[in-house]
Amino acid sequence: MSAFEPLIRAVADFPKPGVTFRDVTPLLADAGGFARCIDALAEPWQGSAVQAVCGIESRGFIFGAALAQKLHAGFVPLRKPGKLPPPLVSVDYELEYGSDRLQARSDALRPGERTLIVDDVLATGGTLEAARSLVAQLGAELVGASVLIELEGLGGRARWQGEAPLRSLLRY
Ligand code: 5GP
Repeated sequence: MSAFEPLIRAVADFPKPGVTFRDVTPLLADAGGFARCIDALAEPWQGSAVQAVCGIESRGFIFGAALAQKLHAGFVPLRKPGKLPPPLVSVDYELEYGSDRLQARSDALRPGERTLIVDDVLATGGTLEAARSLVAQLGAELVGASVLIELEGLGGRARWQGEAPLRSLLRY
């Protein structure tokens, strides 16, 4: 078992019946656990010359900002609609029910900037794919993506296209 696994709380039937929600807040509240988690997220990318870490709203901000510090990279928030002032780039993506949009400042990344995408959980993969599309629109170079938790049964990894590696620390 991974050192962080006891710090992830499984919540049955949340946010709706039949879904097991993976709650990362006990991990965040544990100083040693959170630090070790950021170390483990950073480890595969040491030496990859990452210049920017893009964190997905909202839990991706927490892991992404800490990881950016660790990798001596800048941090770029990828946000839900209505939060960032223009000019923006946007990507619409499908959810299980309905759709959502992810946005970034149109000059958030420099052309060719070596960029890593971070989120807490990979579920169906739609959110991570939208983030990849934003990074591509901005002309940056995608180094890869890291998530803390991969929910393997939901097939998100199959939606991750291309060469850049996708890493996860815990798989359920
Ligand atoms: P996807 O687009 O891959 O279906 O969903 C991933 C997004 O939903 C992530 O941004 C993640 O924060 C959120 N998410 C989905 N399931 C869970 C879960 O069990 N726990 C947490 N913390 N977030 C989840």
